Amino acid sequence: MLKCKDVGTNATEFLSGALPWRVNLGVVWHLLRCGNCRLAVIQILTMLRALRKRPAKPPTEAQIKMWMEALDHDHSGHTHH
Ligand SMILES: [Zn+2]
Repeated sequence: MLKCKDVGTNATEFLSGALPWRVNLGVVWHLLRCGNCRLAVIQILTMLRALRKRPAKPPTEAQIKMWMEALDHDHSGHTHH
């Protein structure tokens, strides 16, 4: 069973279809049950969509860290930038 942090670690590969199917399935299963991770993945998707205008670029350490932090918080607070 994947944990939230595992999903965060694998999110970009999951979205680019680079994960082995068993891991992929684990992520999907987790997303079905975990609203926090679902939100995080949607954020990543939105960001990837924005990045698609430019040449493909892997996420930076800082971005990944941001996602991990987002996973650690619940969404009780305001997350406006
Ligand atoms: Zn989760």
